[in-house]
Amino acid sequence: MSQSNDLFQAAQKIIPGGVNSPVRAFKGVGGTPIFFKKGEGAYITDEDDKRYVDYVGSWGPMILGHAHPRVIQSVEEQLKAGLGFGAPTAIETTMAEKVCETIPSIEMVRMVSSGTEATMSAIRLARGYTNRDKIVKFEGCYHGHADSLLVKAGSGALTLGVPNSPGVPASVAEHTITLTYNDIESVKQAFAEIGDQVAAIIVEPVAGNMNCIPPVAGFLEGLRAVCDQYGSVLIFDEVMTGFRTALAGAQSVYNITPDLTTLGKVIGGGMPVGAFGGKREIMEYIAPTGPVYQAGTLSGNPLAMRAGLTMLEEISKPGFFEGLAEHTRQLTDGLLERAKAANIPFAVSRVGGMFGLFFTEEENVTTFQQVTECNIERFQAFYHGMLEQGIYLAPSAYEAGFVSAAHGHKEIQATLDAAEKVFATL
Ligand code: PMP
Repeated sequence: MSQSNDLFQAAQKIIPGGVNSPVRAFKGVGGTPIFFKKGEGAYITDEDDKRYVDYVGSWGPMILGHAHPRVIQSVEEQLKAGLGFGAPTAIETTMAEKVCETIPSIEMVRMVSSGTEATMSAIRLARGYTNRDKIVKFEGCYHGHADSLLVKAGSGALTLGVPNSPGVPASVAEHTITLTYNDIESVKQAFAEIGDQVAAIIVEPVAGNMNCIPPVAGFLEGLRAVCDQYGSVLIFDEVMTGFRTALAGAQSVYNITPDLTTLGKVIGGGMPVGAFGGKREIMEYIAPTGPVYQAGTLSGNPLAMRAGLTMLEEISKPGFFEGLAEHTRQLTDGLLERAKAANIPFAVSRVGGMFGLFFTEEENVTTFQQVTECNIERFQAFYHGMLEQGIYLAPSAYEAGFVSAAHGHKEIQATLDAAEKVFATL
């Protein structure tokens, strides 16, 4: 029996499902979750002292690799000065300046402690600012677990949204309209009927919660145009894609300016942080300057700000994203080549340091429907084969993968060698 097994047994007795966030429970791949005790660079070590090349990176934040010396040092320095005051600190302004300077659509920004808080607050702000209730989101996108966002489509595009979790009141869900990602016609049609009631469209500019699906040409442009036409707020949820697809996020890759942007993951350097920001005119609607309430005891926590700011400084260095994207390309091209050689129908996607793997006959996966038609059994067998070989991927066929700056030639080659062996067994 492994340590992870024992620890999971103990955890299940006292923590629901043994985990503090559901996807960690390995429900998507079966088997027992691995318990980790240490990370260094591209590697993480489990409680049985087995080392893995890590492509989860704490679900995105570890873009420099684990325990990056400068991030650790900056947190250590801050530790000695205290863990937080619940009062303003200079570093919060430095962080805000850095974010606004890096992502030009963000003229003002507010820090929160998670991605969920960021999206929830951005939605409330958009509703308060427009004085409208309805929001539009897309099937397969995830924006955290606030009530308004845990909603799936009703039977037709414009029917009332249906809660996709007990505990979300139908009276809340009915204000959320769920449309089809990468299908701008469905958006135009919906807006032709109820556009003047829509406070906001919220979208992952590269979808990372249904595997990794980049936007098709014209989709994001179309959302921008529809929001301009109907006076709705365009929210790019860049919790995953921010500082990950490019320094200035997916909005810089596709050259679209949203009204509001939500951030998380990389911005905290591994500490619990999120942020939302955008047009000054909209952001000034937030308390205490404006009437829309939003707050947080731990918001702008100095430890989290130090870790995040150091991370942002490191990834702002010239050539950082070119290197990250090149390593990601080597990984996905190499996997594709090896799958082909083994006669396994397979496709990949990638944007910056983010990638997707699909067991499918399709060459290009652009819709949620196509993702659901991928061969899940084959993914699960691949997953466990890779785990055996010391490669840690996200334990679900619906998650994106992440490459860090610490993933060099050696780690990528090891991953490709492992995949070659595993493909041969599928
Ligand atoms: N938005 C997106 C795009 C996300 O990927 C996530 C989390 N994976 C969230 C929001 C929610 O962030 P958190 O888990 O920090 O609440």
